[in-house]
Amino acid sequence: MIAMKFGGTSVGTAVNIRQACRLIGAELKRKPLVIVSAHNSPEFRMTDALVAAAKSARDGKPDSQLIFTAQRRLCGELGIDSAAAGIDFLLDQFDKLLSGIAMIGELTPRTMDVVMSFGERMSGRVLNEVLGRDFGIRSVYRSSISLGLRTDANFGAAHPDPDCYPAVAKQIAGLDFEALVTTGFIASTRDGQITTLGRGGSDYSATIFGAIVGAEEVQIWTDVSGVMTADPRLAPEARSIPELTFMEASELAWYGAKVLHPATMIPAIESDIPVLVKNTSAPDHPGTIIRKRIPSRRNADIVKSLAVLKGMAMITVTTGRMFGSHGFMSKIFEVFNRHSVDVHMIATSEVTVSVTTPDSENIESAAEAIRNFAEVKVERGFSLVSVVGELMRGTPGVAARVTRAMAAGGINIRMISQGASEINIALVVGDSQMKRAITELHREFFG
Ligand code: ADP
Ligand code: ASP
Ligand code: MG
Repeated sequence: MIAMKFGGTSVGTAVNIRQACRLIGAELKRKPLVIVSAHNSPEFRMTDALVAAAKSARDGKPDSQLIFTAQRRLCGELGIDSAAAGIDFLLDQFDKLLSGIAMIGELTPRTMDVVMSFGERMSGRVLNEVLGRDFGIRSVYRSSISLGLRTDANFGAAHPDPDCYPAVAKQIAGLDFEALVTTGFIASTRDGQITTLGRGGSDYSATIFGAIVGAEEVQIWTDVSGVMTADPRLAPEARSIPELTFMEASELAWYGAKVLHPATMIPAIESDIPVLVKNTSAPDHPGTIIRKRIPSRRNADIVKSLAVLKGMAMITVTTGRMFGSHGFMSKIFEVFNRHSVDVHMIATSEVTVSVTTPDSENIESAAEAIRNFAEVKVERGFSLVSVVGELMRGTPGVAARVTRAMAAGGINIRMISQGASEINIALVVGDSQMKRAITELHREFFG
């Protein structure tokens, strides 16, 4: 079998949905398990619209009109009878859910996951309809929930429970299909509460399902021709990378390359399944193949790609007494742990410890707790820029090129770190200098 994941834009318009069907049709020999995201186009972003509708319902204004109109219009363009396809039933349920949210005036993470699940549940049915009716493919639709994909109850960013995998595999093996369509992004707890894997989570669903069925390959179909040397929205000169190792792709995903959800590579690494990233609108482009090892390393770029995490904060803890006091670090990190502050980068001197973390409300409460035993400064508005490549290991001079590029752009580096694995050099710069930093680094390594 293979797993084929179609991202939001790949199923965002009638044209793209038909294109996705063609690509699925070309793979029937390999029994595709198709993982689908919610519809997404520049005119209408389903998941964002669901979130916005839920928030306005909480504020007393339940209104499902925008979502009804967009979903029905797409069905109309595809000639789908939305009642017969089960879409109207879902829309009706969604409308009732909004009224419920408005009545209670409360929107918990658990409810938000139910709200967001409607996007994938509708697009899965839509794709399945077109596959069967217009392409004559014997296709079966089962939501990931009904296939038995279970997670913990960490709503909004749930973790899959591998104990469920054998039962899911068994259920899939018992189905008769040419193509099986299921939902990305969503799952449920053991007791049936709907959960999501975090925004952009369909990539993760794809590798989870790939691991479950022992797929020979996971294909991620998106709106760019593979993983590129930088986000093409930040660096228009970015180009596609033919090959990446699991470690490189994993590092890029964690450090902000949105083309892959941060956790995507975990199941692929565990089950050693190659991941192919391809462009739905340009299927002849080879895209990027991600696997354990790259056979030929000759002529390979030392630096493979740049990634950015925006919205970072920096917490600097100062004390006169850190020297010789080995319990100090553990005290600080105990506070971060208690307040769920995720530390991305850390730098120390004799009297200060600086960490960067995604900006969140928890930072202030953590800072308050640290003030009991040390001075704390919180600064906001930073970006973490990463330079990633496995061949950096053992290659002298890469860090020098990074700092030279920053100096050339007049960019102030607030923090810099190179992990002991030597596959990532990360820099913290002000948000306003981030784009410049990418331009300079791209010129230095790929110009
Ligand atoms: P999908 O809906 O298919 O999951 P996403 O919007 O989540 O698509 O991810 C694709 C987008 O990721 C691209 O359009 C691009 O702007 C962005 N992106 C960020 N970093 C990279 C990168 N290194 N290579 C390719 N795309 C990237
Ligand atoms: N539809 C979800 C989102 O927009 C999941 C995904 O697209 O991967 O975040
Ligand atoms: Mg995505």
